[in-house]
Amino acid sequence: MAAVTLSKIEKVYPNGFKAVHGVDLEVKDGEFMVFVGPSGCAKSTLLRMVAGLESISGGELRIGNRAVNDLAPKQRGIAMVFQNYALYPHMTVYENLAFGLRLAKTPKAELDQRVRHAATLLEMEHLLERYPKQLSGGQAQRVAVGRAIVKKPEVFLFDEPLSNLDAKLRAAMRVRLTELHRSLREAGQPATTIYVTHDQTEAMTMGERICVLKGGVIQQVDTPTALYERPANAFVAGFIGSPEMNLFQTPREGDTVGLGTLRLPLPAGRFRPSSGPVQFGLRPEHIGLQAGAHSVAVPAQLRFCEHMGAEVYLHAEAQGQAFSARVPAEQGAALMNLARGSTLTLQFQMQHAQLFAADEAGASFLA
Ligand code: ADP
Ligand code: MG
Repeated sequence: MAAVTLSKIEKVYPNGFKAVHGVDLEVKDGEFMVFVGPSGCAKSTLLRMVAGLESISGGELRIGNRAVNDLAPKQRGIAMVFQNYALYPHMTVYENLAFGLRLAKTPKAELDQRVRHAATLLEMEHLLERYPKQLSGGQAQRVAVGRAIVKKPEVFLFDEPLSNLDAKLRAAMRVRLTELHRSLREAGQPATTIYVTHDQTEAMTMGERICVLKGGVIQQVDTPTALYERPANAFVAGFIGSPEMNLFQTPREGDTVGLGTLRLPLPAGRFRPSSGPVQFGLRPEHIGLQAGAHSVAVPAQLRFCEHMGAEVYLHAEAQGQAFSARVPAEQGAALMNLARGSTLTLQFQMQHAQLFAADEAGASFLA
């Protein structure tokens, strides 16, 4: 097994477009690292450079203790699973798994042992004699993962492998892949993994650490909890979490921020003293109907409610700024029938407020 170390990695495409700007990152030996960010942020470019499918324009890439910039994909000890995996339609699952090993002239007994071991790990022993057309989407995806496992790579690379599956199956596969990583670790074969996705839920649930990218530049690398609780900038704050964090444009005066005519207190001692234009962020779950020790009552106008089952998402406006709140269904149900524009009092739990620079762009997906 091996760490993957990127030092000042750059990518300039032949047309002159610079896709990656000096990326420094160490994926630790055995770690499950997720690359996440919006479409076009260079997740695939980075992964393909690690795989050896894309040349490296600058910097150094190490896998284990070897610099691999100039090594062919085959020599890097990696295995990659793509969104569009193609199984060989005329071969059984067993043969699909065995194919690469046969090419590498792996002895028959070892080949059989590796194929059966991968099938066991992925709970698909019963599928070995089937043909790809006899598999469901999730089963076919497991075979694609199995083909990576039989190679016994030092590093697993995944590029949006679940994007073609429907939502339910994606959630199930998410759990399966996470379990697979754990079971390999428990079996003493920890698998260094880089997993690319644009989906923040996948990133949060699967990653031991997450690398958030924007425009080919790392924004923050941290554990899911740390990213959620202490986002480094407004972009990360908006990208991680759903519904996204509310960002209010506001003037700060010492220990308070303004919201129109209201002044809201910042958590004592958390931020360096200053004044001037800022954005303060508050997650939807920190705005609710019930008052708490540090909450501030804010009169707001209701726009609409979304019933999510256990929760209701309220979309509202206060002092000309739109925001959303998440409340438990038993509290929110009564609001479902309120007319658009009704006034209600929402409690801002200001002890959870975050501050960002006024000119930082958030990651809003509401075009
Ligand atoms: P992601 O996987 O995060 O969606 P990509 O790594 O595919 O992003 O692309 C990153 C950026 O590089 C995008 O702006 C994309 O248009 C550009 N890009 C990708 N491939 C090429 C290429 N072969 N030539 C020029 N630009 C490219
Ligand atoms: Mg991509």
